[in-house]
Amino acid sequence: MIEKGVLQIAFISKTTGQIKPSATIALSTRTAELKKNGKDIISLGAGEPDFDTPDHIKQAAIKAIEEGQTKYTVVDGTYELKQAICAKFKRDNNLDFLPENITVSNGGKQIIFNALMATLDQGDEVIIPAPYWVSYPDMVTLCGGSPIIAETSEDTNFKLTPEKLESLITPRTKWLFLNSPSNPSGCAYSYDEIKSLAKILLKYPNVWVLSDDIYEHIIFDDFKFTTIADAEPELKGRVLTMNGVSKAYAMTGWRIGYAGAPKILIDAMRKIQSQSTSNPCSISQAAATSALKGDQKFLKTRAESFKKRRDYVVQKLNEIEDISCLNPEGGFYVFPNCSGILGKKTQSGQIIKNDLELCEYLLEDAGICLVYGQAFGLKGYFRISYASSMGSLIMACEKIKKSIDKLEF
Ligand code: GLU
Repeated sequence: MIEKGVLQIAFISKTTGQIKPSATIALSTRTAELKKNGKDIISLGAGEPDFDTPDHIKQAAIKAIEEGQTKYTVVDGTYELKQAICAKFKRDNNLDFLPENITVSNGGKQIIFNALMATLDQGDEVIIPAPYWVSYPDMVTLCGGSPIIAETSEDTNFKLTPEKLESLITPRTKWLFLNSPSNPSGCAYSYDEIKSLAKILLKYPNVWVLSDDIYEHIIFDDFKFTTIADAEPELKGRVLTMNGVSKAYAMTGWRIGYAGAPKILIDAMRKIQSQSTSNPCSISQAAATSALKGDQKFLKTRAESFKKRRDYVVQKLNEIEDISCLNPEGGFYVFPNCSGILGKKTQSGQIIKNDLELCEYLLEDAGICLVYGQAFGLKGYFRISYASSMGSLIMACEKIKKSIDKLEF
């Protein structure tokens, strides 16, 4: 439709034309719309814990409002929050940072965006292992860089191998992205695996690492989480270790992400934030301070609850004909293989040609919202976010099986 009064010329930038809207956000929006219109939908689309933000964190926010902490703060985080982040990095990751090495943003997304904006020149390359979180490549493109996709496979549990990494490094490589446990696969790198990637990186001083540790606390079966700046201290001078309170503390809506890195990068990121959003919400910062300083025991209890759901979902998916699903070490996602289903027909005769069409069919037929594998850079898969109640997972698995069983060649 032509909008009245809007110039019908090439107004939107070429770069914006090159990127897609976030698939995870688009699907959450679509699910909300369908639910509003009275459709019975189980959403296993967006990655967001179903737990509530713990009470002591909410109380800290209420106190901050009552005390009048409602003004601008230092652009990249209050001193108190930065100190709490330094203590967290020491406690959980054995990393020593000073407050001047810390930056706080409106969610992990802004941390990544600031880091890329601060470092990429036109055509600089960023190595992104696939399957990847939907926003990584488009963020690189928006900042003028070239995403270099390192496709992985189930044979390596969707993990990047040192050989593959080395084959993709060029003089233009600025960053390697590592996300462990991974969104969307849930797979996580062991200490030895991180060490073997680090061994390659030590040979290429031009390459920095963005370690996205947002799912650090959601790990199962005694798996030991490792972050690269700790595993290989010689790399610490070129690692951005990022995290946030969204997933661990069920604070997605509060929008607080943070990172620790060399001061030169932190200063550049602050400059960018000072020209865009200024400080993250002052109330959210007070809440995040309380989250990081307060009781941490419930993190384990919550991880145990996620483990039960993972066990259930993986078992049920593997019972479906032509679906196979790895048993990942963490996160709250699974990334089942659906390639055996592609080419089958629905009862109305429509051929399911790819994972996108399968997810559309499952939304329509079963009322289950999932995210298609292509959005994460790997065809023939889909992502289930199992951060939902056990009751909805039981119902969802039944419905998925029933709808898939109806498909025939
Ligand atoms: N990271 C979550 C997901 O993958 C939240 C949505 C987003 O920002 O992409 O679903």
